[in-house]
Amino acid sequence: MGTDQRMVAHQDWSALRESETARMLAACSHCGACFDACPMIPYAPGAKGSDKSETVRGVLDVLTGGQGDAAARNWIAVCTRSASCNEACPEAVNPMLMLRLAKWRGNETGALPKRDAAETMSRVKVFARLSFTEDEQRDWL
Ligand code: SF4
Repeated sequence: MGTDQRMVAHQDWSALRESETARMLAACSHCGACFDACPMIPYAPGAKGSDKSETVRGVLDVLTGGQGDAAARNWIAVCTRSASCNEACPEAVNPMLMLRLAKWRGNETGALPKRDAAETMSRVKVFARLSFTEDEQRDWL
């Protein structure tokens, strides 16, 4: 792909991201059903027990360039793209993509730290605990 094609692709993607962000902001009712359906919340100390509606608002804040709150940033960070949220959303927002785009935006603005190796390993272990037997966890983790 040449330089011109890359610029066009980048512009197309930027425009798509902006239009998706606007669609999500308009469609989301802040009901929190996505938060309730997320299997990662028990593994997110900063988000567990937080107000679901406020946490969703925090995610939308990060998505639009803000800092969000600690619960929202923590939820964004632990997302493993299970897509359970998408099934739960009554407004077809695609909250899995909402979290993904918020993570991307948060990495750009500095609201979210860049991923480091230690954090990646702890995420791998959390994900493994969801699917490994107790014997496998004892032997491998
Ligand atoms: S993304 Fe969907 S499920 Fe989540 S708060 Fe918004 S409307 Fe509710």
